[in-house]
Amino acid sequence: MIGICALCKATSSLQNSHLVPKWAYRRALSLGGNNANAPVLVSKGNAVLSNKQTTKKLLCSACEQRFSTVENYIAKITKPDNSRIKLFQDITRPNTPKYVLASLNRNDDGNLMAYFAASVMWRSCVMTGQCKLGPYQHIFQQYLSGQAPLPPEVVISACLFEASPQLDPRGWISEPTSLKTQLGWLHGFLMTGLGFRCWIGKTLPHGWSQVSLSSNSQTKYVSVIKPEECADFLAAAEVAEAAKQRGRLAA
Ligand SMILES: [Zn+2]
Repeated sequence: MIGICALCKATSSLQNSHLVPKWAYRRALSLGGNNANAPVLVSKGNAVLSNKQTTKKLLCSACEQRFSTVENYIAKITKPDNSRIKLFQDITRPNTPKYVLASLNRNDDGNLMAYFAASVMWRSCVMTGQCKLGPYQHIFQQYLSGQAPLPPEVVISACLFEASPQLDPRGWISEPTSLKTQLGWLHGFLMTGLGFRCWIGKTLPHGWSQVSLSSNSQTKYVSVIKPEECADFLAAAEVAEAAKQRGRLAA
């Protein structure tokens, strides 16, 4: 199909783009997802146990390639490693009792996670409208196509999930969702052991922009949390459980 590439705006043969990378589904399936034979996908407030993958003819082959290079990198750093993901080998955790913040040993990991998170959120915005970027859709497009950095009011963060005996966070996928809060808009999704958040607001607390993964600071941080302590994760688990009880996941 010939059309206009949503990212670079060139008229080109459009590729079938995935909202969630194919490897993420395969990974979730191989880990057994929610003790079932398919990943739980949380979409539009509903949990669906399926292999349904959101796709759309969206990008030219050069832009598709630009996204998949970053996706392949994320696939590598989130590879299952014992009961966690590989990225745990490349972070430095401070000797504090709570161990929440950890620094990334490679600054590039932070840059690429920010790009990946922004690309999934932007895709959700243009493919399904579920992620509500509003005027920032255009700003994300410029960032993703390499024309401009993200402005300081866009703050992207990531958390790494610890291993958990009850839930395997590496088998969870949720499509991005958006929430309007008093501080600004909050967008987020979960994928293969990582949780991504993006705050957008002109009145976000001072200092947030310096710790954004999309900032140009020399040290990038992630948080390390138990899935039981992540509200997003619990919400996804709850939705999946409720849907199962209603019999909607019977397949
Ligand atoms: Zn393009």
